[in-house]
Amino acid sequence: MTRIEREKTVIGQMIAIYCRKHHNCAGGQLCNDCAELLAYANNRLDRCPKGNDKSNCRKCEIHCYSPANRDKIRAVMRYVGPRMIFHHPLSAIRHIINEMK
Ligand SMILES: [Zn+2]
Repeated sequence: MTRIEREKTVIGQMIAIYCRKHHNCAGGQLCNDCAELLAYANNRLDRCPKGNDKSNCRKCEIHCYSPANRDKIRAVMRYVGPRMIFHHPLSAIRHIINEMK
C-alpha cells in the first residue's frame, strides 16, 4: 500500500466514524457534507506534490486544505483521533493526531 492509499484509508475511516456519531447516518452511508469532505481530502491527496516519496504528509494536509475544509477535518480528527488510537494503535494515525494538535 502506498502512502497516499494509506492516508485515504485512514481519512475515510475517520470521517465515517465522525459522521455516524454526529449526523445519524445509517447503513455506513456518509451524509452529503461528509461525502464532500472525504472527496475533498482524497482530491488533495491525489494532488499532493510530495506524492508517495515522503512518509510525512501531515504538514502538507494542513497547508493545502482550504480554511473551511481544514476546520472540518480538524474537528473530525479531534473527535475520532483518540478513539481510533484506542481501537487501531497504528503509528500513522498517531502521527496525524500529533500534527493536528
Ligand atoms: Zn455526516
